[in-house]
Amino acid sequence: MDCLPNYGPAARRRSTGVSIGGRMVGADAPILVQSMTNTDTADVAATVEQVSALAVAGSEVVRITVNNAEAAAAVPVIREALDRRGINVPLVGDFHFNGHRLLAQHPACAEALAKLRINPGNVGKGARRDEQFATMIDFACRYDKPVRIGVNWGSLDQELLARLMDENSRLSRPRDAAVVMRAALVTSALESAQQAESLGLAHDRIVLSCKVSGVQDLIAVYRDLAARCDYPLHLGLTEAGMGSKGIVASTAAMAVLLQEGIGDTIRVSLTPEPGGDRTREVIVAQELLQTMGLRSFAPLVIACPGCGRTTSTVFQELANRIQGYLRAQMPVWRDHYPGVENMHVAVMGCVVNGPGESKHANIGISLPGSGETPVAPVFVDGEKTVTLKGANIAEEFQRIVDEYVRTRYGNAPDAGTAQAGAAGPQG
Ligand code: SF4
Repeated sequence: MDCLPNYGPAARRRSTGVSIGGRMVGADAPILVQSMTNTDTADVAATVEQVSALAVAGSEVVRITVNNAEAAAAVPVIREALDRRGINVPLVGDFHFNGHRLLAQHPACAEALAKLRINPGNVGKGARRDEQFATMIDFACRYDKPVRIGVNWGSLDQELLARLMDENSRLSRPRDAAVVMRAALVTSALESAQQAESLGLAHDRIVLSCKVSGVQDLIAVYRDLAARCDYPLHLGLTEAGMGSKGIVASTAAMAVLLQEGIGDTIRVSLTPEPGGDRTREVIVAQELLQTMGLRSFAPLVIACPGCGRTTSTVFQELANRIQGYLRAQMPVWRDHYPGVENMHVAVMGCVVNGPGESKHANIGISLPGSGETPVAPVFVDGEKTVTLKGANIAEEFQRIVDEYVRTRYGNAPDAGTAQAGAAGPQG
């Protein structure tokens, strides 16, 4: 029999490692998940609450906007409040237009941040641009903070773009304007990084990003960027949009790059639905990395889509319940049950694929389809162990999952107490 080739992801592109508040980005570090708050940073209580929620959901770095004096003054207060809660997630300050002034007037802000994000298109114009950029880099050096040079399609340095457009127009065969625009994004990032280094910022204190809102543009820009430098790269589709469109566009763009070994940290920039949960962007980023086999964050629930063979919603409710339950346990489980994040749980709707898929999972249940005997066989490590029936199938299956986690992953000395401390939704 012919062997199929291995179509796994390419080896990660080699990059320098940058420490962000003790967390490594790039080099051999796992691909980090980042997020950003949408609270008014000056509102300390709201920002602390949201940063905490993002961190608990699994965001490993959280960015907050620092847009005015009130926000800059709030940053050290936010840091202290997070520390008191035991939330040690590194905070990144997002600066535009006035960062040079804010850092000068609020040195405690610079001190409290783990990284500065500088957008070279929003630092200033003409000679002021260089001066203000130099001031920000000086603060980064003085407080020993890494910098993300974060170029964005929507705020590209217009003087640089005009220069490249001008050069392009003098070519015998000028390139397409979109190609010049992509080149301008990459040039802006690389020239700014070079400038930062010439001002004294160490090579291993720089992360780059070039965010655009088009999938094909993002892929082209990052391929170019990856080929031309060894700085760690932060991936993200900017202005990805709402709901499924935002998730699909971000996934389509980033999956291609991640498969090629490009990307050291990611953010999924979703526009929340009104009243929606900001942590959704963290979950989506984790699921992107986990479904690609690049990292594991929480047990995966494998559920069938359902069809006319099962008219009941029992299996949908059970899949939803188990998925929510497993994720809610992770803050405790990840310490007490190492490896549990690799567990697969199958929740299937009928006998067609139910037993087979359940046998492939660590633990699985095949619920009865319409016309089947109302029983649900449970499979553990490929073997049928018990058949559940009656009104409490969900509760009983959850208990079996708990027991499996304890016995399979509970090697830590205090594992026996983990369950008591695990809080989370039960349905
Ligand atoms: S496992 Fe059964 S219920 Fe689920 S999609 Fe397949 S045939 Fe339909």
